[in-house]
Amino acid sequence: MSVSNPLYIYNSLSRKKEVFEPLNPPFVGLYVCGPTVYSDVHLGNVRSFLTFDVVYRYLTYLGYNVRYVRNITDVGHLIDDSDEGDDKIEKRARLEKIEPMEIVQKYTNGFHDTVTQFNLIPPSIEPTATGHIVEQIEMIQRIIKNGFAYEVNGSVYFDVKKYSEKHNYGELSGRKIEDQLEQTRESLEGGNEKKFFADFAIWKNASPETIMKWDSPWGTGVPGWHLECSVMSTKYLGQAFDIHGGGMDLKFPHHECEIAQSVGADGVNPVKYWMHGNMLTVNGTKMSKSLGNSFLPHELISGDHPLLDKGYTPMTVRFFFLQANYKSTVDFSNEALQAAEKGFNRLMAGVETLNKLTPSEVSSVDVNAIISKSTESLNDDFNTPTTIAHLFDGVKTINAINDNKETINQSDLTSLQQHYKGFVFDILGLVNEKDNSSDNELSNELMDIIIDLRNQSKENKDWGTADLIRDELKKLNISIKDTKDSSTWNYEK
Ligand code: ZN
Repeated sequence: MSVSNPLYIYNSLSRKKEVFEPLNPPFVGLYVCGPTVYSDVHLGNVRSFLTFDVVYRYLTYLGYNVRYVRNITDVGHLIDDSDEGDDKIEKRARLEKIEPMEIVQKYTNGFHDTVTQFNLIPPSIEPTATGHIVEQIEMIQRIIKNGFAYEVNGSVYFDVKKYSEKHNYGELSGRKIEDQLEQTRESLEGGNEKKFFADFAIWKNASPETIMKWDSPWGTGVPGWHLECSVMSTKYLGQAFDIHGGGMDLKFPHHECEIAQSVGADGVNPVKYWMHGNMLTVNGTKMSKSLGNSFLPHELISGDHPLLDKGYTPMTVRFFFLQANYKSTVDFSNEALQAAEKGFNRLMAGVETLNKLTPSEVSSVDVNAIISKSTESLNDDFNTPTTIAHLFDGVKTINAINDNKETINQSDLTSLQQHYKGFVFDILGLVNEKDNSSDNELSNELMDIIIDLRNQSKENKDWGTADLIRDELKKLNISIKDTKDSSTWNYEK
């Protein structure tokens, strides 16, 4: 947190890099739009949440007390992100012939499993839209009271034209309201309830067959999708908070609407720094389900997809994502993934060598240069690719020391080891998967000993001990299979 080495964040609102100064240090409020839990989480989501995982990790590393809120959208998100059509979760529930809340639970569990695989730290608070209906109704009432919303047939719309008289609707996305005026006449001809093309629903009247719906002053309905994030971010982080993140596709209309709602309800611009992560491409083309070139996280790990030559470990994928700037697209190709796999292994090998180095009396290497360069690049708007490049330069130095071409003294060695631990594991969030495989090796050796002991008790006709070992292992989900002259074991998760 030293002034001489500030953190810069690219603010999508001002469109420039700004020195990060929290509103209420050392507290930092971080809000990230979470998933709509109606299907398996896709890789684009994983990348977006990974970006903010690094933001959260680095701010924490710098000593800030970060409250990280990432919501679960479990109602109100309509097909095509529009104000018309089905709720995504309701539609899925009808398709699978189960309760909407079963869909929510199923895909929330799946989402948690996936992000855990990629070593994402869970948020401090993970609120749901359905858990905040009362607060959403209250916010709508404040917006109506201030004259920025109107009711039609049991639905409530945000009045963008009225809002634009005094405020800049489009300040985040750069869209101009005048450009949209032309389209107004057209869209209103179809008997649309909205007064103005750009108006958006903050409460939608529910049809009789809708399962998830709530009573409100305007009748039975559901909150509009954009509203939940305004309500939950300000409830837990305050009317004005530090950082709001999400994918670039959320900038408009979702985030633009969030600003309008907060200003409309409370007269406060809610966010100091807006951050947006970029999209994924495959061999240079946008990754999309309809183009058939999208794969799910588990397909990337197993390699079970026509476009993939093989599978990759979650840490290789994490490393692959971190090798790109969060503001740039990431292009998937077999070559790039294989290069990332090699790079990740090289970095892990470097850290292993570092931890085994023997110190000398004096240092011939400049440890501070390695430390300050990688710190500077991370301070430059979380520039992970450049940070990784500097860490690789450091690996060259580490290898030179290991080959006795350079020397390092004890205090420099300790600093360098701490730096790599902090940057590689705590901030970039990588895990040395070899550590897990050595756990496996150890488990195998321990199981050999246990099986030998059991075989010996069987030979001694000590059936009590043999059965005890078998039963105790069973409690750990380890089953033993006895054949004529040997025993095998199997572990089921
Ligand atoms: Zn949101």
